[in-house]
This record gives sequence, C-alpha cells and structure tokens, in this order.
Amino acid sequence: MLRKILEQIAPPHLAYDKDPIGLQIGSWSRNVSKILVSLDMNEAIVDEAITIGAELIVCHHAPFYKPLSNILVDTPTGKMIEKLIKNNISVYVAHTNLDIVEDGVNDALANALGIENIEILEVTKKEKMKKLVVFVPEDTHQQVLQAISDAGAGQIGNYSHCSFNISGTGTFKPLAGSNPFIGSQGELEKVKEIRIETIIPEGIQAKVVQNMLNAHPYEEVAYDIYPLEIEGSASGIGRIGSYEQAMQFSEFLDKVKLVLNLSTIQVAGPSNKLVKKVAVCGGSGSKFIANAIQQQADVYITGDVTYHDAQWAEQQNLTILNAGHYPTEAIIVPKLTAMIQKRCNDEGCSIQVIPSIVNTDPFHYM
Ligand SMILES: [Zn+2]
Repeated sequence: MLRKILEQIAPPHLAYDKDPIGLQIGSWSRNVSKILVSLDMNEAIVDEAITIGAELIVCHHAPFYKPLSNILVDTPTGKMIEKLIKNNISVYVAHTNLDIVEDGVNDALANALGIENIEILEVTKKEKMKKLVVFVPEDTHQQVLQAISDAGAGQIGNYSHCSFNISGTGTFKPLAGSNPFIGSQGELEKVKEIRIETIIPEGIQAKVVQNMLNAHPYEEVAYDIYPLEIEGSASGIGRIGSYEQAMQFSEFLDKVKLVLNLSTIQVAGPSNKLVKKVAVCGGSGSKFIANAIQQQADVYITGDVTYHDAQWAEQQNLTILNAGHYPTEAIIVPKLTAMIQKRCNDEGCSIQVIPSIVNTDPFHYM
C-alpha cells in the first residue's frame, strides 16, 4: 500500500533514465509507522530518523548516485549505510520523477511564487497511447465497459468513457482442462459478442487490463493491445508562467527572497526590467537557459548556474537568479510531507509523516 501511495505521488516512469529512484535501502516488507521526509541523505538525517522513530526516509536526492564498490564504515557514506541497516531504516527516493510530476518540485516553486498560466519548460516525455480491443458476451458488456472506463480507459480531452462497440459472433471450442463460462468441452460454440474498442495511455495499461480481467466472465479473455501513432499528454521539467500584472524587478526579487527564505541572491543579466513572464527550475537548471530564452521569460530562477552559463544568459538579455540548489528545492519537503500524509489518511494507513528540520545546504548565505 505504501509503495502504491509513493508511486502515485511521483510515478517512477516519469524519471530520467538511470536516475536511482525508488527503494534504495531496506525492504517493503517492514512495518512503517513513521516516515521522515527530507531533501538529502546524510548521517544527520539518519540520526533525525532514529530520534523520531521513523522506519522509512523518503528523500529527493539519492544516498549515492554511483554504484558502490565497497562500503567502508569509516567513510561518511559507509557510516550512513551502516547506521541505516543497524537501525532497520529504509530509504526511498523520488528524484526526477518528483521534479517532473504535476504538483512536484517545479510546480511547488512556481505556485509559491504566485505564477499563473503555468506550462512545462522542457518536455521530457509524451505519453504513449494504446488501443485496447476486447470481446465480451452481450449480457456482460456493460460491466466490462464500466470496469475499464472506471480505470481510466477512453479519456479523450475533456471526455471520459469514450469507446466504440460493435456486435458480432465469437467462436470457440473448449478443450480438455477448460472450465467454460458458456458451452461445454469439445463442442464448437458461437456466441453473440460485442467488440469494445477504446484508447488508453500506457501508464494505466496494467490497471485497465486488470480491471477488465476481473470484470470479464470468460476463463480466457480475448483481447488485443495495439500501439498508436498519436501522442498522449506531455510531462516535463521546469515551469514557465506569468503574473497578471508586470512588476518592477526589485519588487520581484524581494518576493523571491521571501519565498525561498534567502537574504541574498546572485543575479546575472538586466536588473532594471519589468517582470511578467518567469521560468523556474528547482535544483540544477542551467541546461534549460535556452528554453527560458526561447519562451521569452523575463527572469529564470534556478540553481547551480555556472559563470559561463550566466554570461551567455546575460548576452541574451535574460535575467537569471542563481538562487541555489537547496533553496529552490527545499520547498518540496513540507509539500511532499502533506501529500504522503493525506494519501495515507485517505487509504486508512495509520502512518505519521514528518518533515525533516535538518538543513543540508552546504552553502551559507552570508
Ligand atoms: Zn536536486
């Protein structure tokens, strides 16, 4: 159940390839009564989990990004792993999938800044669409159609339950070992059936098929799934949007400082412009400077901006706020805590979800 909740909040299929996400240390079979939510993993976070009695840490950055060739307990990483294992604490990571998902890191940042008409800055994936065809005896047609529609099949724009249904004759001969719903072994059957066809995004295929199999009366269900050329909804990293009213840069900068809890921010590019269109990317967003320029952002807020990237943005008249990796992502910790808590409550799991209070930012803003 807990795995389902976490995967609903940040679906693993949204993550970048080879990004270490999901359960990194521990086991799903352990009982969890308390979850600690943090941005990073280090020994101080493990100590915090021990103090509050959390059996699971849900974090944004993985405890290690490269495969380990050894675990030496006199190194910080080895000591952290040893402590986690000795104290039966599991670690679950939601990284780029949490950046990309709707209401994840980037939406949290854009929403906190009060940006409206929010769109994706860089599309990373367009969902693959499939055609599902299933053959159902007439009298159970409605229950199967309802089951697959309830699982999300047949969603086209603002329309749900879209399907096409056509009558025909199905044939089958139950063989030895069968237990047929209609007919008997060794006799050819002809049954009035309905061919249901509908459309499904790949992400919900397993759920739709499971619902279909549960609702279908036949021992062996005849169905087909075809890949389609048409694309489903887009997902991506970074966000761009605008304010209803343009504001002076100084006013905007004050707003950003307040939201990110910063006393100083590095600024590159013009600082005397009006700000209306704003792009954001929590964490390391240098590689999306071109997107911000192309989509005509007045300002781009991100972290880990290098000297040369800032120079290039300046030449393009884009104002960049190099607001730090930690400050632009830390905003997700209370949001993620609330999201996990709500879903646990909704599912009737008595789990307490607690945000970390350890500041893991290696930088001091002096
Ligand atoms: Zn990050």
